[in-house]
Parts: sequence; C-alpha cells; structure tokens
Amino acid sequence: MKLMKTCLLAVAFLAVVHAASAQGKLNVVTTTEDLASIAREVGGDRVAVESIARGYQDPHFVEAKPSFILRLQRADLLIVVGRDLEIGWLPPLINQSRNAKVQPGAAGYLDASLQARILDLPTGQVTRAMGDVHPLGNPHYWLDPENGTIIAKSIAAKLGELRPNDRALFDQRLNDFTTRLDAAEKRWLAELAPYRGAKVVTYHRSYSNLADRFGLEIVGYVEPRPGIPPTPQHTLELIADMKRQNVKVVLVEPYFDLKTPNAIGRETGAQVLVLPPSVGGTKAITDYFTLFDYDVNLLAGALKQAAGK
Ligand SMILES: [Zn+2]
Repeated sequence: MKLMKTCLLAVAFLAVVHAASAQGKLNVVTTTEDLASIAREVGGDRVAVESIARGYQDPHFVEAKPSFILRLQRADLLIVVGRDLEIGWLPPLINQSRNAKVQPGAAGYLDASLQARILDLPTGQVTRAMGDVHPLGNPHYWLDPENGTIIAKSIAAKLGELRPNDRALFDQRLNDFTTRLDAAEKRWLAELAPYRGAKVVTYHRSYSNLADRFGLEIVGYVEPRPGIPPTPQHTLELIADMKRQNVKVVLVEPYFDLKTPNAIGRETGAQVLVLPPSVGGTKAITDYFTLFDYDVNLLAGALKQAAGK
C-alpha cells in the first residue's frame, strides 16, 4: 500500500514536470534584431527568439518572404517597434499567418513603443502625406539605452503574462539586464562627454534618440523629409548650412547610397561615417550592448578628429 502511494506520488510528480516541460519554449518573433536581443536578455532559455528584419536592412522597407509567414504561424508572441515603422511590410504578413495569437490587440502582440520616450512627435495633423515615414513620432527610439530598459520592462511584463510560472525568472533577468545596461551607459556617456554639443548631420532621422541621450546636436538631414531621397536643391542648402555652422561629421545608415553624402563630404570637408543603427548592422554588433560599444567608439573617434581640425 505504502509502495503504491509512493508510486502514485512519483507519477503525479512526473506529470507536473512533464506539464511544465511540455509548455516548451515560448516562440518569440520580433521585427528587428534590437528587439530580439533584448527579448533574449529577458527571456533566457525560456524563449526561442527570431527576428524578421536583419540589422543591415532599412527597417522601413523590408522585402516580404514566405519564410516570414511561417515564422509568424509558429509564434506565441510578436514584438514590434511600432510607430508605423513596419507599416509598409508587416500587416500583410501578420494577416497571412492566420495566427490569432499575434494579431494586433491579441495577447501575443506587443508594441514596444508604448512606454518608450518618443521624440519628433508631430504637433499638427498626423499624416503620411509627402511620403513622411515618421507620422507617429520617431520610431528609432531603441538607440537610447534608457529606452532599452523601458523596452525590456515591457517584454518582461508580457512574458510573465504569457508564462506566469516563470514570472520570477523574467523579473530576475530583467533586473540583471538593467543593472548591466546602467553601468554600460555610464561608460558610454563618459566616452562621449568631451564632445557634448558637437554638431552633426545625419542621412535619415535614425539617430534622434542617440543624439539626445549623448548630447550631440543634429543640425540637418541629407533627406529633405524622412523617407524622401535627397534632392539637388536640398543638398545645396545643406552644404551651405554645414559650412556656416562648421559641421564636420555626416552620419549615414549602412543601407543608404553614399553618393550624396560623399559629395557633401567633399564640399564641406566633413567625414562621412557609416553608423549602424541596429544590432546586426555589421558583424561586430551581435547584441544590444555591442551596438552602443561600436557606435560610441566610432563616434568618439570621428568627433575627436573633427575637434582637432
Ligand atoms: Zn525612420
């Protein structure tokens, strides 16, 4: 009888263990590699994370592939940057996945921008007229480590909601991530502190949050408006402006043609710096930490050289 009872207990115990492991890993799909990196930090071995876009692609314009639909079909959670960043390519993919879990508004859909600090918010009517691809404020907000913390918090809360049994683990991993990120941010701030107030021009408005956090002043853009290619008229005005303000650095995302930036560089004597805005933007940038390590190092080098001129 006693043996029987022990056996039953053992069976019950195994059933519980089996139920936990049968849950398996949560399948998380993110639109960008930045969100994927943060989701891995928070989810640890309880999640399997895949990104749709690669970090060297323009996140506004990603070519849809059938494999993306398959990924979304299997997903328990979809994390998006939001603010219309993915509006040109993601909605049909979500739709075609026919996965009820990850439809906008469902429990498995997380817009990471909801709590983040968003810059360039429009003051007038919200519109995509003139091709402006930032109608809901600047969607490149992950380039501020403090928004990284906010994104991580949103992800931890969502993972805890989907897997209540692992909530304590997610909270602990969130804590560990933010502690490391805070320490790293102090290091990055110190590295760029000598160049506070330095004036730069950027191709697209990808670096507003980065500049805001690290004290750089963006005085113009190669694009006349976000998403609109350079025009000769705008380029001439920009060159005149850069000469007037003595701007010596032009930042360019890896996916833009360097022809116009190089012409601007020749006219003004400014350095043209290809600065990856995302994890995966170049081989050395493997996660959210190395993204800032790489960019801060590159910026500090260029600004140092510019200051020495
Ligand atoms: Zn943009």
